[in-house]
Amino acid sequence: MDYFPAFLNLRDRACLVVGGGDIALRKVRLMSSAGATITVVAPEFNAALRGFVKANDHRLVAREFRSSDVAGNWLVVSATGIPEVEQAVYRYATDAGIFCNGVDDIKNCSYITPAIVDRGAVVVAISSGGAAPVLARKLRAQIEMMLPAGISTLASLARDWRERVGKRLGDLLSRRRFWESVFDGPIASDAIAGDITSAEVRLSQLLDDSTKEQAGEAWLVGAGPGDPGLLTVRALQIMQTADVILHDRLVSSEVLAMARRDADLISVGKTPGCRANSQEEINTLLVGLVRSGKRVCRLKGGDPFIFGRGGEEAEALQKFGLAHQVVPGITAAAGCAAYAGIPLTHRELSQSVAFVTAHGKNSVDNLDWTALARDTQTLAFYMAVRRFGDLMNNLVEHGRAADTPIAIIEKGTTPEQRVIRGTLGQLTLLADAHRVTAPAMLIVGEVAALGGEQQDREPQSPHKYAKPEVRIAQKG
Ligand code: SAH
Repeated sequence: MDYFPAFLNLRDRACLVVGGGDIALRKVRLMSSAGATITVVAPEFNAALRGFVKANDHRLVAREFRSSDVAGNWLVVSATGIPEVEQAVYRYATDAGIFCNGVDDIKNCSYITPAIVDRGAVVVAISSGGAAPVLARKLRAQIEMMLPAGISTLASLARDWRERVGKRLGDLLSRRRFWESVFDGPIASDAIAGDITSAEVRLSQLLDDSTKEQAGEAWLVGAGPGDPGLLTVRALQIMQTADVILHDRLVSSEVLAMARRDADLISVGKTPGCRANSQEEINTLLVGLVRSGKRVCRLKGGDPFIFGRGGEEAEALQKFGLAHQVVPGITAAAGCAAYAGIPLTHRELSQSVAFVTAHGKNSVDNLDWTALARDTQTLAFYMAVRRFGDLMNNLVEHGRAADTPIAIIEKGTTPEQRVIRGTLGQLTLLADAHRVTAPAMLIVGEVAALGGEQQDREPQSPHKYAKPEVRIAQKG
């Protein structure tokens, strides 16, 4: 971060503006609206500036700037447009330990002012650190549209109730929860729509309810296969309100970066070289956290109910009568196929798609190979990297053609995505030659030959998070 963001309390503080034109006037207006007491120094003033200063009881000093002018001020703004003056003002202010802003003159600034969206008590400040003021202004326009004008009513409501809420709800956690319910629900909608009476009735009711004992809550949330752009809006909302995020190793760091800053992040996945938490340990931890009153986001790669053991965690919570919700995610098969340009079904080529786990020898032995080997269906194998040999042999033995197209998608939807294509008969050779490692999806079926060439030219991801696939193997 190049600049430290802060909001200054200028009420009744002495501030100096050097300059007598329109730019100086803009600054004087803004600082005046924050309650500053302003002295404006310039040899000449335009009429508007003169009028504003008079009407608002600020002070005009009609002469050239002098070094002694900076003394006693909290903040200095220099808006003369004359390089020598700007430099001098900056130097004297800085020597005196006073923050100085040369308008549109980054060299002569010890602080810069952001583009702002002003909604009364709510002010959004946007800065590009001086790098791209036009971009900051564009963002401001977008935020202007997002923030309803009534948001200031909501903020005033919160201000009016803050002390009472503080007295009734002693601890920080319950206060935070209370305000999150206020800002997420009908109270906020009422206030924004201007119906203060209804908002206050509801708020007072919520406050009564909140003083009763609260149990925690859990969400079993799918984080998708890696690209944070594939998170659902709901998943993001929960990640930003949960007290604790219990996540698998497969959940990417880009996704975790979107969690609320002060949430506790607990990894319960397997890390190479370390012992994995058993499912029982995870269940116990999850139940314990929720019972202690925490709001827990159990964040799992892909979809929580597709080879994610989300079902077992839901049962464990149920056993203790603990509230929970499930938030689906984009499963690896869907995400990886899409980013490789492979349609999982196709009118002519494939009428069904099976999500199959190849985890462990036992599960491979127990699969219905006759059914899986039939034509015109797509197979999406999860956890298959160490079972490629078994899969290939079983499918071919049960009648699936050795020249059936396959695609291996390693670290799909992430910047390290690799797509390796070929045929079923080449599967182990390809995997060895390209040193495929987990996590990887194996897609078997005619559709696996589709999408490749287009993909070479243009990645499927709209924001180009994944690289275009590398087309390595020949077909046939
Ligand atoms: N619940 C998850 C699956 C968990 S099992 C889901 O719905 O996607 C873990 C397996 O998922 C891995 O062994 C791998 O086969 C697959 N997988 C998960 N993320 C992947 C990714 N980014 N690229 C390729 N395969 C992935």
